[in-house]
Amino acid sequence: MSITEILNRIGPSTSSGILTHEEIKLLLAAEGDDKKLLFDKALQVKLAHLDNFVHLRGLIEYSNVCTKYCLYCGVRSKNPNFERYTLSDEEVIECAKLAHELGYGSVALQSGERSDAAFVDKITHLVKEIKKIDNGSLGITLSLGEQTEETYRRWFEAGAHRYLLRIEASNEDLYYKIHPRDAKHDFKTRLNCIDSLLKIGYQTGTGVMVGLPFQTLDDLADDLLFFKKKDVAMVGMGPFIPHPDTPLWQYRDQIPSAEKRMELT
Ligand code: SF4
Repeated sequence: MSITEILNRIGPSTSSGILTHEEIKLLLAAEGDDKKLLFDKALQVKLAHLDNFVHLRGLIEYSNVCTKYCLYCGVRSKNPNFERYTLSDEEVIECAKLAHELGYGSVALQSGERSDAAFVDKITHLVKEIKKIDNGSLGITLSLGEQTEETYRRWFEAGAHRYLLRIEASNEDLYYKIHPRDAKHDFKTRLNCIDSLLKIGYQTGTGVMVGLPFQTLDDLADDLLFFKKKDVAMVGMGPFIPHPDTPLWQYRDQIPSAEKRMELT
């Protein structure tokens, strides 16, 4: 099947085109004129669904303190080579107020992963305080990693309505090439967390890094099918950027060029 035939099956104004793994892989491998056709179609579908707008979110990087040590992440707890910080309550509320004044519809609170009681209480408090701004008109997205279902529910009831938890790799084998294989970095826990978020009623987002060492086009095609199967509301994807203070740095020569990683994203 040609790229044109595959693209013709995707209507410009519907999302009804269901692609197979092999078809997605062909699209991901497209080059030259085929790639241009693919990008033109993507723009057509985007304009049909979302119009010619960019939606801005106010991202508040709450803290870079983290208890985990993912193999790709410069913020991992086993990296002592930089300063850790956590914003004060006042700083968070000030950021949220500024976002509201500037006309943002929502803010996203993001942090390294902690799940201790003090952290859970603090986030509950901050969500409630942000909700007080202009009678709750600001939407709140959280990106605070894996938590218990009870914690997710508590934050939802406090006023958060969106949650972003990237699976990072939907292939379990690849997941354990970019995470330590231990209780803190359990693939099934990650999947269960995404299911809990969906069950509670969050507009749930997930996503993956693109251009990881060992990652294939088959993996990326399966990632896209995973997002479709989970019926998530948002997909966050970004290029893998090797960091010198991480174990994955040693594979930096085995990944696609920065341009290719951006293009696939
Ligand atoms: S949980 Fe997030 S912040 Fe912490 S090491 Fe992993 S990727 Fe980095």
